[in-house]
Amino acid sequence: MRLDKLLANMGFGSRKEVKQLLKNGAVRVNDQVAKKPNIHIDTTEDIVTCYGEPVIYREFIYLMMNKKQGVLSATEDLREKTVIDLLSDEHRHFSPFPVGRLDKDTEGFLLISNNGKLAHNLLSPRKNVPKTYYAHVAGIVTEEDIQAFSDGVTLDDGYETKPGELKILKSDTVSEIELTITEGKFHQVKRMFEAVDKKVVYLKRLSMGPLQLDETIPLGSYRELTAEELHLLE
Ligand code: URA
Repeated sequence: MRLDKLLANMGFGSRKEVKQLLKNGAVRVNDQVAKKPNIHIDTTEDIVTCYGEPVIYREFIYLMMNKKQGVLSATEDLREKTVIDLLSDEHRHFSPFPVGRLDKDTEGFLLISNNGKLAHNLLSPRKNVPKTYYAHVAGIVTEEDIQAFSDGVTLDDGYETKPGELKILKSDTVSEIELTITEGKFHQVKRMFEAVDKKVVYLKRLSMGPLQLDETIPLGSYRELTAEELHLLE
């Protein structure tokens, strides 16, 4: 890969800004000042630094966001703020996208990446990747609801859901539940409760596949996946 492309791709500025960095002698390749933008870099072998900081090449990024309410799970929107708007320039630079969608008013676990293959593996209906949600539901959630979800319920468009595992954490006028489903139909959790005449009033995703929400991430913030978490995705 060309040196200027590597630097621009890794967020060191536009091609023009990168050219200036090179002119300033800020960039070294294998400890030699490099001034030519078209030097070929072997990203597995050459050591590139900019003002002494290593420039590490990577193709993919993997971010765990604790989504807050009020932002869209989309890459861009003309009127509303998206989860991508919450990223730093350093991360936005990789053109990442949300892996799956959460409603505007849903909080919690959202994976953001630019790895299309990984996204396909996590989202393909054939992979049956489990997703666990925590919800507040208006009305008393019952043992019959557990059975109904386990059998599969009929959504408003006639779709029969696959079995879902419902756990009642607190049964009250506003109940607290956890629900694990392996599908991702539009508004699925809310519509499953509608199918048993109940309304979800708060929804948060706790996990997706092997990844669990890191509850120490403040709402609306994110961090990169750890090496261990990445390993779980392999
Ligand atoms: N189910 C819903 O109803 N909404 C979400 O955001 C995710 C799952």
